[in-house]
Amino acid sequence: MNQSGAHSEGGFQFESLPNGWLVGRFAALQALGVPHMVTTRQGPDVDLVRDDTPTAARQIAELMKLSDAAFLEQVHGGDALACTTGGQAGFADGLITEMPGLALLGKSGDCPIILLADARRRAVGFAHASWRATVAGIVPATVARLVEFGCDPENLVACICPSAGPECYEVGQEVRAAAFEGIGRQAAEFFEPGPAGKDHFNLWTANVAALRCSGVPNEAIHVAGVCTLCRNDVFPSYRREGEMAGRFAAVIGLPSQ
Ligand SMILES: [Zn+2]
Repeated sequence: MNQSGAHSEGGFQFESLPNGWLVGRFAALQALGVPHMVTTRQGPDVDLVRDDTPTAARQIAELMKLSDAAFLEQVHGGDALACTTGGQAGFADGLITEMPGLALLGKSGDCPIILLADARRRAVGFAHASWRATVAGIVPATVARLVEFGCDPENLVACICPSAGPECYEVGQEVRAAAFEGIGRQAAEFFEPGPAGKDHFNLWTANVAALRCSGVPNEAIHVAGVCTLCRNDVFPSYRREGEMAGRFAAVIGLPSQ
């Protein structure tokens, strides 16, 4: 299901857990021993993830054998924060930590969540790369935070979780205009005219390019390649369900010591 070209294979697989949840995991993060999961409809309630994130976060952290969980009020911008304790860490779209045992939880209903881990396990993070956050530079901002904490981009592993795929993600002219303003002329590569005459924005290749520009090696970038609009049976989708859509969670942490 890998549709976005030059990066390595996604290595994203679904797995049934003993508690009955169905979750997605990336082989590249499992190989590093970095606890992570992408939840589905068969897991923590998608309305709970959206409306009572602290409760959902605690359930997920406990299942992952992590002591606490931090999350963001996601605002579709280009700022990334660092945190050391659980709970709501602030208003931003990138979050990192170097605290062992602390889960970081990103919420999505079509937007790509990009999980990031340092291969030496110094720190982990995520970026909520909605179209607005993507063009506002959320990937370089989150990688820059990790660099502040001693990470070298060359040692980072990045995994782009299920999200609206290029075949389905139709956008208006204002998105194209904002992308050219935010990203520059390279933005042309990320838009294709769709069958209905409107542009499709490829959030996967746009974020792969942002990761490469930030110094993450191509072979360390993994794209699940699963579209949430096509797989609305597995994932809530804002585009498919509108305001009523729940959220799924993408979670990463450093193992407890
Ligand atoms: Zn699709």
